[in-house]
Amino acid sequence: MAHYHRDTECIHAGYQPGNGESRVLPITQSTTFRYDSAETLGKLFDLEEDGFFYTRLGNPTLDAVEKKIAALEGGVGALLTSSGQAASLISVLNICHAGGHVVCSSAIYGGTFNLFYKTMHEMGIDFTFLPADCTEAELEAAFRENTRCVFAESLCNPSLVVTDLEMFAGAAHRHGVPMIVDNTFPTPINCHPFEFGVDIVTHSTTKYMDGHAVQVGGCIVDSGNFNWKNGKFPEFTEPDESYHGVVYAERFGNMAYIVKARTHLMRDLGAQASPTNAFLLNLGLETLAVRMERHCANALAMARYLEKNDKISWVNYPGLEGNRYHALAEKYMPNGSCGVISFGIKGGREAAQRFMDHLKLASVVIHVADLRTCVLHPASTTHRQLSDAQLEEAGVGPDMIRMSVGIENIADILADVEQALAQV
Ligand SMILES: *Cc1c(COP(=O)(O)O)cnc(C)c1O
Repeated sequence: MAHYHRDTECIHAGYQPGNGESRVLPITQSTTFRYDSAETLGKLFDLEEDGFFYTRLGNPTLDAVEKKIAALEGGVGALLTSSGQAASLISVLNICHAGGHVVCSSAIYGGTFNLFYKTMHEMGIDFTFLPADCTEAELEAAFRENTRCVFAESLCNPSLVVTDLEMFAGAAHRHGVPMIVDNTFPTPINCHPFEFGVDIVTHSTTKYMDGHAVQVGGCIVDSGNFNWKNGKFPEFTEPDESYHGVVYAERFGNMAYIVKARTHLMRDLGAQASPTNAFLLNLGLETLAVRMERHCANALAMARYLEKNDKISWVNYPGLEGNRYHALAEKYMPNGSCGVISFGIKGGREAAQRFMDHLKLASVVIHVADLRTCVLHPASTTHRQLSDAQLEEAGVGPDMIRMSVGIENIADILADVEQALAQV
């Protein structure tokens, strides 16, 4: 397909029907695919020919959505996964095994932190966590002989820290390893990590990409830019005996990473997306560009309103001129960041709870980044086991409210917040 603007690719990339074929991407709800000869099937198994044979390894509906997301990120290939968690796991495990080490920003989603800090640590992988606003010297000092990759989030859920992608990717490349970035919050509409030297992107497609809160899913995208033949990654330059001696970097060139993630790890772990979920995700992707524009406009209007309200003690949104990460946001996401903001209410925990109880339009849910405005009080939900002192240390004060501003009419969202604040 010709290269169109991203908002056009949202609608058209990945699936172009032939003469007389379904205009809308069909759901191929089949585990398996028929071939005329056993020989063809054998070649597919040996990765000598392209084709679908079992949905754990590939399926036409998944394939179309993978191509669309790869086009949106500007990558050479993508792999859909059953969740964002599976995408994070596979993205690292594809190049890092027991005895390996990962340099990781501490400004990451809590679920990713648990996966790395507990489960992958128990698998024998070491992580060094350092603040996203560390100095270049601190970053350099975190690398070791056995470091295999660097991991960060472009815009962190929930702290809204913006990572200096060029600084992190530059350090990774000086040490001969790739940079992996979770680009869930800004989406490929607002942030293009590959343009700043990032090698691999991951997503929780559960959030804005879906946008309607109907499926849990994830995705890994390969830029095709990293040189796996630099001597540090024998898994790409030495034969894989479990595939009759295939050498990924030789056979698959600049798609080696994403092919291996599928044929090795998806084969073994089975965390694939379902065709129906991929279809639902695709519907969300079709409107992603227009939704992101509205999310960002609404979130900025809400942040500006709250900033001027004397019942509010602080507001965190990178789009605000006074925000600590405003300059980085201007550089890495100049058209807007996302629809999530956080703020503190004077009167602490009780005031925050009273405010939320009085909201009528905005709902209280453990979710972010869909088209309905929703709020969460971390201190009484996701972080409720922590004391007030521990909460402050974690950067989640008892007064903090996280609001995921939806795409309703902003006047209605503002009126709802105004009436709830009046009752605090
Ligand atoms: C939600 C989220 C994840 C985890 O994704 P799931 O789809 O819930 O498994 C990973 N990273 C970020 C930034 C997220 O917001």
